[in-house]
Amino acid sequence: MNQKTQAILLRSYKYGESSRVAVFITPCLGKIKAVLKGVEKLKSRYSKLQIFGLYDVELRRVKDRELDTVSSLEVINNFSGIMKRSETYAVATTVIEITTLITSFENDETSIFRELCFVLDRLSQNKEGESPVRYLVIYALRSMHLAGFVGLFSECGACRDKTGPFSITLSGDIRCNKCAPAGKKVFIDRSLALAMDEIVRGGMDENAYLSVKNAELRKISPVVRLLLDFVLPKPLKSLDFLASVLKKKEKNTDKG
Ligand SMILES: [Zn+2]
Repeated sequence: MNQKTQAILLRSYKYGESSRVAVFITPCLGKIKAVLKGVEKLKSRYSKLQIFGLYDVELRRVKDRELDTVSSLEVINNFSGIMKRSETYAVATTVIEITTLITSFENDETSIFRELCFVLDRLSQNKEGESPVRYLVIYALRSMHLAGFVGLFSECGACRDKTGPFSITLSGDIRCNKCAPAGKKVFIDRSLALAMDEIVRGGMDENAYLSVKNAELRKISPVVRLLLDFVLPKPLKSLDFLASVLKKKEKNTDKG
């Protein structure tokens, strides 16, 4: 059975002598693994395959087989602007890793797919002097919410109390003081909880990403970092790379 879909490349690895397996995120099929035959050969028609790239893909799907085969692939947008700066590249790498960890195979991931397209496009157009990190923090929060890993922050998930104060438990649940279990948890005040709810409830547009004030973003970032630790099935590998890129950038700014 052949099936056409849009797809973003999450990663790829060598398969046999001349082929690669690509892991894509698609809107309706979720994550998929598909073989690109002969991709390692010179003059391969898939030579434009690039991480972060958005493609029109035609798949040959075989029932009960884990691997599909790519029968055609056309570039829609390779978001080439991302590659122009080390900061946008490092942020996009982390965005892709988060997406890989929160999405599932053979699951409708349309809303996360659309959000990812939007963020990669914004990062590709990110200008010198604008921090791309804002897109990472807000995408991380919104995509964890879209994937069902976190709910709303201004209401206790157990007793529905809306007055707070609230804390986030190790499993990523929001609890009031009365309902919070003993042990490690992170307190968030009500104004921060409301600000985070506004981010996850907002529509997917520029406003959701740019309306958050810098001071607010500085308070939200460490909470998002902890949430990622709490809810992701594996620790994020790309964060160290991002931290080193940002540190270098800061050094250069100090010199200038
Ligand atoms: Zn409660």
